[in-house]
This record gives sequence, C-alpha cells and structure tokens, in this order.
Amino acid sequence: MALPLDLPAGDPLAPELDAFVAAHGLADRSAALDRAPAFPAAEYRALGDDRWLGLTVRPDRGGRGLTLETAGRVLHRLAYRAGTAFAKLALQPEFCSVLLDHGGAPLEAEWVRPLVAGRRLVGNHLTEPGSGSDARALRTTARRDGDEYVLRGTKSEAAFAVEADAAIVYARVGEAPDGITAFLVPQQLPGIERRAAAVDLGERWQRRGSIEYRDVRLPSAYRLGEEGAGFAYVRPELTRERALLAAIYLGVARASWEETVGHVGGRLAFGRPLADQEAVSFPLVEDGARLDAAALYVERTLRRLDRGEEAEGEAALAKWLATETALTTLDHAVQFHGGRGYSSELPHERRWRDVRSGAIAHGPAEVMHVVAARRLWPRRPPGDPA
Ligand SMILES: Cc1cc2nc3c(=O)[nH]c(=O)nc-3n(C[C@H](O)[C@H](O)[C@H](O)COP(=O)(O)OP(=O)(O)OC[C@H]3O[C@@H](n4cnc5c(N)ncnc54)[C@H](O)[C@@H]3O)c2cc1C
Repeated sequence: MALPLDLPAGDPLAPELDAFVAAHGLADRSAALDRAPAFPAAEYRALGDDRWLGLTVRPDRGGRGLTLETAGRVLHRLAYRAGTAFAKLALQPEFCSVLLDHGGAPLEAEWVRPLVAGRRLVGNHLTEPGSGSDARALRTTARRDGDEYVLRGTKSEAAFAVEADAAIVYARVGEAPDGITAFLVPQQLPGIERRAAAVDLGERWQRRGSIEYRDVRLPSAYRLGEEGAGFAYVRPELTRERALLAAIYLGVARASWEETVGHVGGRLAFGRPLADQEAVSFPLVEDGARLDAAALYVERTLRRLDRGEEAEGEAALAKWLATETALTTLDHAVQFHGGRGYSSELPHERRWRDVRSGAIAHGPAEVMHVVAARRLWPRRPPGDPA
C-alpha cells in the first residue's frame, strides 16, 4: 500500500519526477546551495522547461493543471528526494496567485507566462520592519496621481530580495484600515533600493532582505484587481500554500526518518545495534506514526480544498502539525546519527534548519493556531452575545 502523500503506484508522474531530480542532481545542489547561497537560476529554468513550475496552474498558461492533492504528492516526493529548495521553488507561481488571478491581460504575456516558464522571478513583499504577523498594520502607501500610483515604504524579510524581477507589493491606498491593495512592481523601476540581509539559519538560497520604495511611480495597469481587495485576494492563496508546504516538510522528514531507521538497525554500540535500545527505537516508532498521521491530515485538507470546501483553519493546522512533526523527526535523526549527525557531512542538520522556517514563514505557528481558533469560535460583533 502506498504511503500517505506518496504518488500512487503506476502514476507516470513518479518516474518522470525522479528522472528530473536525477538529471539535475538536485539532492547535491540543495547541499551546495546551503554552502554557497545563490538563487538557482539554471534549475529554476529547468523546472519551467519540464513543467514542474505551476503544478496547479492551468495548462493553457503553461502549468500542469493538477489538483492540490496530486500537487501535494508531487511536492512531497520532490522534497523527499531533494529537500525543501526545489519543492518550494516549484510553488513559485502558486505563491503569485494574486498576480495570476487578478493581473490584467497586459501582465499575462509580460509576467505570468514567463513566471510559469521559469524565465522571470516574482517575489512577495508583505512584511515590513514594523509589521509581520500583524500584516494589517503595514504602513507602505500607494498614492494615486493621475494614471499612476506613487509607492512609498519599506518591505523586509522578503525572499529573493535582490534577485526578483518583480514583486507583488501590498500597500495602503487611502485611510480605510482594511484598504490594502496589491501591485505588481517591476524591481528595476527608479526609486527602488534592495539589500540582502544577514545569512539565514536555513533555506539560504532565498537570500532574504529588504526593499525600500522611495516614491516609485507605477502605472495603474500594474494594480492587481480592485483597490482595497489585497487581503481578500491573498487569503485563499495562503490557505492553499500552507497545506502544500505541509506536504513538503513531511517529505523532507520522511527521508531522514528512513535513513535513521536504517542507520540504527546496523550501528553497533555496547555490543548490539542501536535499535535494540528502547530509548532509540521508541522515539523512531513514534515518529513513523506521527509522520503517517500528519500526512493523512494533510491529504484530507488538500482534498477538502479541491472540493471547494472551507478549510482555512485545517490548512493552518496542517502547516503547524507538519512543521512540528518534521522538526521532531529531524532532531531525532541528528541525535541518533551521533557526531556525524551534527555535522554537514550528513543532510539531517541542514534539513532541520530548512524546515525550521516553517514555524515562521507563511504565518508563524502561533498565528496558525489563531486562524484555527477563529474557525471554532468565530468573532462576533462587540455586544453580540449570540
Ligand atoms: C524563510 C522565510 C521567508 C520569508 N519570505 C517572505 C517573503 O517572501 N515576503 C514577505 O513579505 N515576508 C517573508 N517572510 C517574513 C514572514 O512572513 C514573517 O517573518 C512572519 O510573518 C512573522 O512576522 P515578523 O517576522 O514581523 O514577526 P512578529 O510579527 O514580530 O512576530 C514574532 C513572533 O511572535 C509570535 N507571535 C506573533 N503574533 C502572535 C500572536 N498573535 N499570538 C502569539 N504569538 C505571536 C510568533 O512566535 C512570531 O514568530 C519570510 C520569513 C521567513 C522566515
């Protein structure tokens, strides 16, 4: 029987994906990108050429048109074989759904097609020095001036800070507290200053940093959808991507778990295999069960999203559960490989550092709880006891 979140036996996507991973040496490239962080432009293009970018994007736009469930299985397998880097990169068009769903016709040819083809890189600029989890507190403004907007503010923590060709920038238009609007901003426009920040704990290839917008003039055709609708547009994207990221983290952890089970079965200490020590075998047995349980939860969430059911809270919890389960499993992998487990000779410490981002990026773990709690106890207007 196939493991949860694995592609079903006989699915032609599995050998096609495995061949792609092998042809581009993606497992080794992940390790190399950690040692010498850089955006993997060649692999990004290759992902586009072989249609691993835009897994859920319509085929007439260059994607594969997969369901979220099948995309989750592909990403789980890709992460199992080669870590988080290329699985996350494969999701780049999905991370830009606000552009795909709300950009007008002129942006389609110039940005959407090249993005799905791996020829243009589009980032997301939401976080600011003064607002992250509480994104609604953002202060970047976009002032209308004739047929243009004038953008002013600073974004921070952003992936591909100096490499992105364009970014989806969230800015405040007018005074309304929820009046956040999304724009596509080509990053070569005058008035933009970009800086890479300090080296990250993991996922260093993302080369995060900050971007300053100093009265950047942007034609109004680059506004994505309606004024004030930015958060309404990005919310469903966050829900989908949290569930898909969960599949990635579990794939990475599954690889380390299998390697650790093999290792402790053969490594002798005190005259017997490490696996004979219950202090070693019991945590690994538990990790196996937790990985399966979390994968089943993620599968169910993806299926519910495919059916169009409301699953915002579940998707948030899927990311939390997968991150926590994966981090525990990866910590055990480091521990039970001993001194080598702690070193870069083996992949476990890097996998742990990469997955650690899952508790912060795309919404911190605590905020995932807030989102889920809101589903259980919906907010009521003040004074309404019902
Ligand atoms: C690898 C990575 C990639 C990223 N890429 C991007 C990107 O491309 N674009 C972008 O805009 N941003 C990006 N971010 C930023 C990310 O979205 C923010 O870091 C995140 O939303 C948290 O915001 P903050 O850093 O301002 O932390 P804060 O909002 O200051 O929160 C700090 C901590 O406080 C706790 N906390 C916050 N709110 C609550 C609450 N309500 N209840 C309980 N505890 C809480 C959490 O532990 C949280 O981590 C990325 C971050 C990482 C790590």
